[in-house]
Amino acid sequence: QAKATGRNSFQFYAAGMHQRALDRLQLEKDLHLALERDEFILYMQPQLNLADGRQSSVEALIRWQHPTRGLVPPLEFIPAAEESGLIIPIGRWVLENACRYLSSWRGTALDHMSIAINLSGRELASPDLLEAVSGMLTRYAVDPSKLKIELTEEIFIDNIEHNMDQLLRLDQLGLQLAIDDFGVGYSSLAYLRNFPVSLVKIDRSFIAHVVERPDDAVIVRAVINLAHNLGIPVVAEGIETQAQLDFLRDNHCDLIQGYFTGHPMPAKALLAHLSRTAGNDHSAETSEPSSG
Ligand code: C2E
Ligand code: MG
Ligand code: MG
Ligand code: MG
Repeated sequence: QAKATGRNSFQFYAAGMHQRALDRLQLEKDLHLALERDEFILYMQPQLNLADGRQSSVEALIRWQHPTRGLVPPLEFIPAAEESGLIIPIGRWVLENACRYLSSWRGTALDHMSIAINLSGRELASPDLLEAVSGMLTRYAVDPSKLKIELTEEIFIDNIEHNMDQLLRLDQLGLQLAIDDFGVGYSSLAYLRNFPVSLVKIDRSFIAHVVERPDDAVIVRAVINLAHNLGIPVVAEGIETQAQLDFLRDNHCDLIQGYFTGHPMPAKALLAHLSRTAGNDHSAETSEPSSG
């Protein structure tokens, strides 16, 4: 009896695995086509500087405009792209389009904007990454300080020497490097000292309950203080409420990013968003009145 059940569930499991393998193959084929047909699009999510109330940077977040499935979020295809190696051409597409936006914004009301792009560990490992980045900067005449690269803590686990080398070279090119999803990964703090980190992004899982959970509040304060003591500014991700914003401002977080101040949006919606929110007063009763 038990044996039969075991075998049946194994066959069931194997059939499920087989289906998943087929689905994955189909997804990889579709991703190839998506590149050929130019079906990807970059959404932009603004970041708010809490000190001056300005929005001078955005994070570029990829979406796939699928012919039948609609707008597909990155978590549904980036993992497959990473496994198959397609993340390299997709990442190059992201890089090129970020540079293209920066160049098209020159001389417009978006002139001051910088763009952060996400880079997976596999892209950092790619030997011609530096060539690709410097090539794009030149081709679109982009000021390197306008381009930020977001990397997760996974890059501190394997290939440390190679990754360190790549980061130093990106830093020398003049790009800013941000540690994304800080706190959920390989949390050794030494790399904040050893790597050329210009920004720390606190993962949104710490922000979600920061107002009502004292432990999360302690962690967020500690990360902000640690980063500041090392001279590194901090972005908090996933701000959805005024109370979260107030907490972060009161604790001297530099920038916030979240649905409360702006969802990811098509680039062409940015300008309208900025003019609509320009007058928003994000200060609260707890903040110091400005002198003079
Ligand atoms: P991430 O880099 O940590 O990006 C932040 C994610 O949080 C985005 O999800 C964003 O839409 C979402 N988010 C922003 N504000 C809020 C909020 O207030 N509440 C909640 N619940 N979520 C918020 P998205 O766009 O689905 O992207 C997911 C992940 O996919 C990104 O996480 C990043 O790791 C990856 N990704 C996105 N674009 C790219 C890309 O061009 N290349 C690579 N390699 N990865 C990318
Ligand atoms: Mg990111
Ligand atoms: Mg993140
Ligand atoms: Mg993430």
